[in-house]
Amino acid sequence: SPSLVWFRDDLRLADNPALHAAAERDEPLVAVFALDEESEGMRLLGGAARWWLHHSLHSLREGLRERGVALVLRRGPAGRVIEELAHEVGAGAVYWNRRYGAPARAVDAGLKSSLRAAGMEVSSFAASLLREPWTVTTGSGTHYSVFTPFWRACLSLPAPRSPLTEPRTLAGTTAVPASDALDDWALLPTAPDWAGGLRETWEPGEPAARRRLQEFLAEDLPSYDRARDEPAAGATSLLSPRLRWGELSPFTVWHEAVGVDGAGGFLSELGWREFAWHTLFHSPDLATKNLRPEFDAFPWPPLDPAHLDAWQHGETGVPLVDAGMRELWHTGYMHNRVRMVTASFLIKNLLIDWRLGEEWFWDTLVDADEANNPFNWQWVAGSGADAAPYFRVFNPELQAKKFDPQNLYVSRWAGDAPTEPIVDLAATRKAALAAYDEVKRAPRPPARG
Ligand code: FAD
Repeated sequence: SPSLVWFRDDLRLADNPALHAAAERDEPLVAVFALDEESEGMRLLGGAARWWLHHSLHSLREGLRERGVALVLRRGPAGRVIEELAHEVGAGAVYWNRRYGAPARAVDAGLKSSLRAAGMEVSSFAASLLREPWTVTTGSGTHYSVFTPFWRACLSLPAPRSPLTEPRTLAGTTAVPASDALDDWALLPTAPDWAGGLRETWEPGEPAARRRLQEFLAEDLPSYDRARDEPAAGATSLLSPRLRWGELSPFTVWHEAVGVDGAGGFLSELGWREFAWHTLFHSPDLATKNLRPEFDAFPWPPLDPAHLDAWQHGETGVPLVDAGMRELWHTGYMHNRVRMVTASFLIKNLLIDWRLGEEWFWDTLVDADEANNPFNWQWVAGSGADAAPYFRVFNPELQAKKFDPQNLYVSRWAGDAPTEPIVDLAATRKAALAAYDEVKRAPRPPARG
């Protein structure tokens, strides 16, 4: 009886424990991806993420096809879609790699029990995080809310497991189940087609992800610590969309990097990704609720849509902010330092609720991640786990002088013409600090999560 492998955020053949288990079982294989826009609470993908998904699925389908396996595409609530397919093919076993967001976990748990009740073997595996969120606990058995002790605890555990090799042989089924056509899912933008900059910048899919990892290890990792904060240096890995979509496994990245001299700083960035997921697992409302509930008292002024629009389109007149927002719009990516500066500007100079910024990033980033995105927005806002203190307002002019001293990044994305900021940086900073004082004075509700 066939094995059914359900691909989700793990669009790869190498170090894929679900696929590996199916290969070991040595029965005909059915591979499926379900586009789920209906299950309760599931966050709909943004535009840039849909673009990436289309191309990454295309690449996965090619990789499987070369090994004689068809990738079946189905659309609908995943619990129903996978259950139907499992019955349709008469699956003896169903395998997947675990997800950690609450709505996805609810789908997976429901499916697991209904398939088991129907007599199928169901197994799930750890594949997307080095440490599953419940495996890292404090001395008193609770989860962590501060990064440094969290990461220290992770590092004190036995080393992350070695990556699994790609299964050497796979065997498809002779009767391939019906599949949607990828193009019919309309994941790519058409009218207008805004994805030209994404096509110029990225090659989604596992083979390109592996090439980028090797290139980064050889060329950029040695200077990572020195240059990672300079947006013009091209010194970071650009692996975020690859990790988001699981084209690369964190175990592979870890084991390839860990032996390289000076890799600690880079590995601790992987640690922030782990910490963001640890936080989301324990606080599923991370994208909508302040982790520190005293921030619910923050007196956001009425929204000025013109200001939000100027920020989104890189027309604030603040060169580093505009450069970042234009890089994002063009490429679906923005350098981390500039993400912090643009987010701080939205929240603390325009006094616009971080959730509106989070939504814009969600829609425009190719690496838009259910945990990393809201986690980092709350970090900048000061309302999150181990967050920057609210009173730390990034000064975009000083940040540009320090991290883009030759103006390379700014002139590339925003040009050199003189501009006039839409708000006064000093006055708005003062207003933000006054608003923060109100938060401090509000009675302190108990912590969330
Ligand atoms: P590298 O410096 O090479 O880091 C290696 C990997 O570590 C990254 O690929 C990423 O997986 C992880 N990582 C690095 N920094 C962080 C961090 N601060 N938090 C969590 N993981 C991290 N990252 C996303 O992957 N998706 C998002 O949606 C996202 N939204 C963000 C929003 C804001 C406001 C901010 C300030 C940061 C956000 N980040 C997000 C984190 C970070 O900016 C990106 O992961 C990083 O810029 C990706 O580039 P890189 O792969 O070259 O990073």
